[in-house]
Amino acid sequence: MPDPTPAKLVIRNIGLILSGDINAPILDGDCLIATNGKITAWGAEADLDCENATTTVNANGSTLAPGLIDSHIHPVVGDYTPRQQQLHWIDSTLHGGVTTLISAGEVHMPGRPKDVVGLKAMAIAAQRWYENFRPSGMKVHAGAPVIEHGMVEQDFKDLADAGVTLLGEVGLGTVKDGKTAKQMVDWARKYGIQSTIHTGGPSIPGSGLIDADMVLETGTDIIGHINGGHTALPDDQITCICESCSAGLEIVHNGNERAALLTLNTARELGCLDRVILGTDGPAGSGVQPLGIMRMVAMLSSLGNLPAEQAFCLATGNTTTQRSLDTGMIKQGLCADFVLMDQAQHAPGKTLLESVELGNLPGVGMTIIDGQVTSGRSRNTPPAGRLPEIV
Ligand SMILES: [Zn+2]
Repeated sequence: MPDPTPAKLVIRNIGLILSGDINAPILDGDCLIATNGKITAWGAEADLDCENATTTVNANGSTLAPGLIDSHIHPVVGDYTPRQQQLHWIDSTLHGGVTTLISAGEVHMPGRPKDVVGLKAMAIAAQRWYENFRPSGMKVHAGAPVIEHGMVEQDFKDLADAGVTLLGEVGLGTVKDGKTAKQMVDWARKYGIQSTIHTGGPSIPGSGLIDADMVLETGTDIIGHINGGHTALPDDQITCICESCSAGLEIVHNGNERAALLTLNTARELGCLDRVILGTDGPAGSGVQPLGIMRMVAMLSSLGNLPAEQAFCLATGNTTTQRSLDTGMIKQGLCADFVLMDQAQHAPGKTLLESVELGNLPGVGMTIIDGQVTSGRSRNTPPAGRLPEIV
């Protein structure tokens, strides 16, 4: 049987291509091609084979970047969150240019099981229901169990065998000591499960303090919300964490913005900006933040004196590397997940990058996931100057 016609996406007339790679954040070219949902080529349109496209997008001079990644969310089921009784928060987030969400635990599930059999069952179910259903096309990596006392090595093997790849935030369950947490995180890592930790003061009544000693002793792959969620650790503990480990340094919208800037500046001094990644921690006490990742990019760029093209890497390629994802960079073979955006109408600055460096959000004109257009002009960002269109 002959192969079916490949799905071929051609995006032409791109004004600027952001790569997601913090070492080379801007790419040459005005055209990008993806075949069957994977990036195949980019560059000058005249040099590329644009024949036989099944979808052609005219970017009309707007900027193309990898779809943004939110490294820290708390989904529960479908596009509904019981935490703030809100529907369609994931669809709203897609309109903020985010195409991938990573769960830090489905902790807002009413009646969440905390016994070992129950928590394993829920993690496996959550992994499945987001694998089987993408709200508005959004990629949701979920099924992130929160470790509890009584778990043994076999539990982590069972979870991994069943398809679980993430742990929820260490510290949200009964395990509050570094020794036990480290043992469980080591078991998780042995079976290929990635880990994160709740850093800082308690988030809501009932949760507890996780200080630098516990963070460092536990040794998770990601330092979850190093700027607190909401309350940050003292400055010396934040710099100590940055200096004393090589884990991903996650800054969240729900955290302390001064501590976010301290983390950025410390990472820059240490020469490890590539470790800094962004999340929202939504939905939580601060609610749903559809533009949270975009706001973090603008905040860190403007107040942290970070060139905007590098700031976008914190929300894309840095997370790709820290979390071993197949999206978030313009690279051959990676998923064709993009956001097309332009300088917001009437925003100061001569270009999109300059307007972001002045603290303004760009306007999102389109999102694309696996080579398929998933949304058009954003209903949430300020209006973009130029809009892409399907031709
Ligand atoms: Zn947390």
